[in-house]
Amino acid sequence: MNKNYSNNSDALSHGASPEFSNKGLPASGEYARQAGGAYVPAPQGRGQSGPTRHSPSRGTPSRLPASHASPARAEHAGGRQAGHGPQREPQRGPARGRPGSAPRRRPLHLRPARPPRGRTKVEHQAPTSRSMHAGPAIPPPAPDTVRIIPLGGVEEVGRNMTAVEFGNDIFILDCGFQFSEDETPGIDYILPNTGYLEERRDKIRGLIISHGHLDHIGGIPYILDRIGNPTIYTRKLTGKMIQKRQEEFAQTIPVTIREVEKDEVIKLGAATIRFFGVTHTVPDSMGIIIETPYGDVVFTGDIKLNHENGEPSDEEKREFGIFKERKVLALLMDSTNVWQPGFSIPESTVYRTLEKIIEESKGRLIIAMFASHLERLIRVVHFAEQYGKKIVIDGRSMRTNIEIAREIGLIKYKDDTVIAVENMGQYPKERIIILATGAQGDEFASLARIGNKSHKYIRLEPTDTIVLSSSVIPGNERAVQKLKDNLSRQGAHIITYHASDVHASGHGNREEAAWIHKQIRPKFFIPVHGYHYMLRVHGDLAVEMGVQPQNVCIPDNSSVVEIIAGEKIAKHAIKAPSELRVVEGQTVSELSDVLMRDRKALGQEGFCVVVATVDRRTGKLHKSPDIISRGFVYLRDNKELMDQTRLIIRKSVETSMRNPRAADLDVARDDLAEAVSRFLLQRTMKRPIVIPVIVSI
Ligand SMILES: [Zn+2]
Ligand SMILES: [Zn+2]
Repeated sequence: MNKNYSNNSDALSHGASPEFSNKGLPASGEYARQAGGAYVPAPQGRGQSGPTRHSPSRGTPSRLPASHASPARAEHAGGRQAGHGPQREPQRGPARGRPGSAPRRRPLHLRPARPPRGRTKVEHQAPTSRSMHAGPAIPPPAPDTVRIIPLGGVEEVGRNMTAVEFGNDIFILDCGFQFSEDETPGIDYILPNTGYLEERRDKIRGLIISHGHLDHIGGIPYILDRIGNPTIYTRKLTGKMIQKRQEEFAQTIPVTIREVEKDEVIKLGAATIRFFGVTHTVPDSMGIIIETPYGDVVFTGDIKLNHENGEPSDEEKREFGIFKERKVLALLMDSTNVWQPGFSIPESTVYRTLEKIIEESKGRLIIAMFASHLERLIRVVHFAEQYGKKIVIDGRSMRTNIEIAREIGLIKYKDDTVIAVENMGQYPKERIIILATGAQGDEFASLARIGNKSHKYIRLEPTDTIVLSSSVIPGNERAVQKLKDNLSRQGAHIITYHASDVHASGHGNREEAAWIHKQIRPKFFIPVHGYHYMLRVHGDLAVEMGVQPQNVCIPDNSSVVEIIAGEKIAKHAIKAPSELRVVEGQTVSELSDVLMRDRKALGQEGFCVVVATVDRRTGKLHKSPDIISRGFVYLRDNKELMDQTRLIIRKSVETSMRNPRAADLDVARDDLAEAVSRFLLQRTMKRPIVIPVIVSI
């Protein structure tokens, strides 16, 4: 999970030769390149904003916006007198007090959707100067070239989106987003950068969506109108999930969704597109085949296999049977779990385990899982009915997903099978199954509220059994441990995937991937969906399965991969625009490194506002300076430090204002920030953000 955005040696948009050429490229695509070093020597990441004005005193704005520096505003700041009294510690809860904004790292399609805040209106911020000089334009692909650009999802698990371009057509595969991680505090979602597509809207023939998880559909409301609102092609359930989400946004342009069946063949632009069913954790997951003159480009989407002791089911064999007669040019395939050996636990084993638990339970049963594991949810509802139990659904995203599944006939149950949580008491305990969200320790989810006894209706009893039907996502271990402690303290019995097969991943392990490679037999291979290491392991597997090493290309986000005349694969010398696009509140903008750095500094070190009121004629301080701080030190316990800081402020300002008529207030402010920062660092070994305010009266 340790993402290093700047360590991106393929960000070639500057200083690279504008036209594509094989000069300087090793003859054989990515594998040779990895061994032989990068095409372009100077590594360059996203830090293209140049030197920032923050550098002198790290995170100290050297210049406040004019309004802040105006006497009126400054008086207001000084008028709070907060520096003299006891420090007011902020009483607010977690970041911005919104549920869901607590940072938890986990693959995004496994996370519940953020609760809607009314109908959200998306605003697009104008591109910043950074994206304006994004380097030379990429020429259209040569007539004999199939171009494939992963716009997201190949340096992370999340924000999957890939463009396939040849002739006069562009096809887009998936449009996901990713939840913010530690590196981007305060950001809600990270989007794929669609700059390349925005410049080529007229070539876009459609957006094809493999399945309904948020890392595949989450970006749609933010991106669709930017790329010309292309028609979305997908299967029924996915279409409904997209529509349901769209209702939360005040979009002016309605989306056009064209439902497809998995064995349907459609014509888009000059190409023929086919689909095939794949196994994942949500129904209606599909793979996509784009026919080109050189063979098929095959995209699996998220995938695992249904199997019995390593023998794929007949249905899998049937679905993949179509490849016997097909010539596959390139395979783009999910890499998330390929690094794990053997076969993953098949979902059928999980169902058997859950069925047994449901059948035999003698008290209340609480089953916690991801709302996105829709197939499993459907099974549990089915088992409940079979064994005469009642279901309580406690979690908005779960309820929505089950409702959608019922609406389109994927699940049938009697109206009284699902009961309201308030009515639970009317039934004997052994007939109750509660479906809950929050198995990852999410602070605001149903299970956490049960754990800390703040749930409005559910109090645990020693006869209760809790099934955590999910694995623990790296990064969530401590939260889950705390959750389990809270739950078991109240006497409940907990069943986890460690001791019992109550969970399986939706992504296949190595042997499943190997079997799939054997069926598809691609000439070229491009691993997608995963961190770089995961892609690399998958690349190695492809070579083991018979792909020529020079025919494997491991992309980064926005790498322009080209297959030339069906014979050779290489990365274009120029990358598509790759700056991070982020969603914060309702605004889509490019991520500002400066902003993120400040937020991190604020979180770690706090801030200090120092206010000096200076006499315009004499250049002397009018009164003792004010110091306002949050998150730095507790002022009341550091009176001496504050007194000394006031002396530093006085000395700095009065030195700057020695000659009041000639003094430059901007310079004086810079010097003040510098002096205070240096002093506080010396004394406390901390670097709070220092905001200098000089009021001249
Ligand atoms: Zn998925
Ligand atoms: Zn996914």
